[in-house]
Amino acid sequence: MFSFLFSGSCFLCRGAAGELLCADCLAELPRLPVPACPRCALTSPRGEPCGRCLAEPPPFEATVAALAYDFPADVLIHALKFRGELALAPFLGNMLSQKTEHVDLIVPVPLSRERLRERGYNQAVEIARALGRPLELELCTRQRHGTAQTELPLAERHRNVRGAFACTRRLDGQSVAVVDDVMTTGATLAEVATTLKAAGAARVVNWVIARTLPPHA
Ligand SMILES: [Zn+2]
Ligand SMILES: [Zn+2]
Repeated sequence: MFSFLFSGSCFLCRGAAGELLCADCLAELPRLPVPACPRCALTSPRGEPCGRCLAEPPPFEATVAALAYDFPADVLIHALKFRGELALAPFLGNMLSQKTEHVDLIVPVPLSRERLRERGYNQAVEIARALGRPLELELCTRQRHGTAQTELPLAERHRNVRGAFACTRRLDGQSVAVVDDVMTTGATLAEVATTLKAAGAARVVNWVIARTLPPHA
């Protein structure tokens, strides 16, 4: 099921490559707009917090994304998440680690026990391992796993994850980075951040491989 081996050809175009992707495919990976809102990583003219984050401040302080969730980044993430292409995790995680700051704790978004059994691995954990720093794998748990977020209309995603997470100890005054593969509405990450803040976390930042941009961006 899992493929770990790098065959010497580009994962995307199958051309010759010295790494997982050839130089051309690497250059074509979709970047995020600059400047961006520091809180949600969407376009913001002067790099200031955007109108949406000012009007309704999210429970996290910052979002760092390696890429925009667009072709062919979506192909890579889909392969990592659903086809067991775990060799993509260190590759994508390295792209992310170049943009991260110091935090006290790193927490991958947990899967529920059922989902973990089904899939056999948690892609967020695999990405977070690539950051080369100690992870907190028992700190945050997922109590239940409703419908997969990707199967729901955007408007229903916040309700679907409400109360889904729990924190196993106090985090008073600590800064926490939450790692996930994709941020779309941010509903899951907002719920995790709310849970961590309720446990006393002082600062929560999202570290994601790819950020979905609104259709007009
Ligand atoms: Zn290529
Ligand atoms: Zn924003």
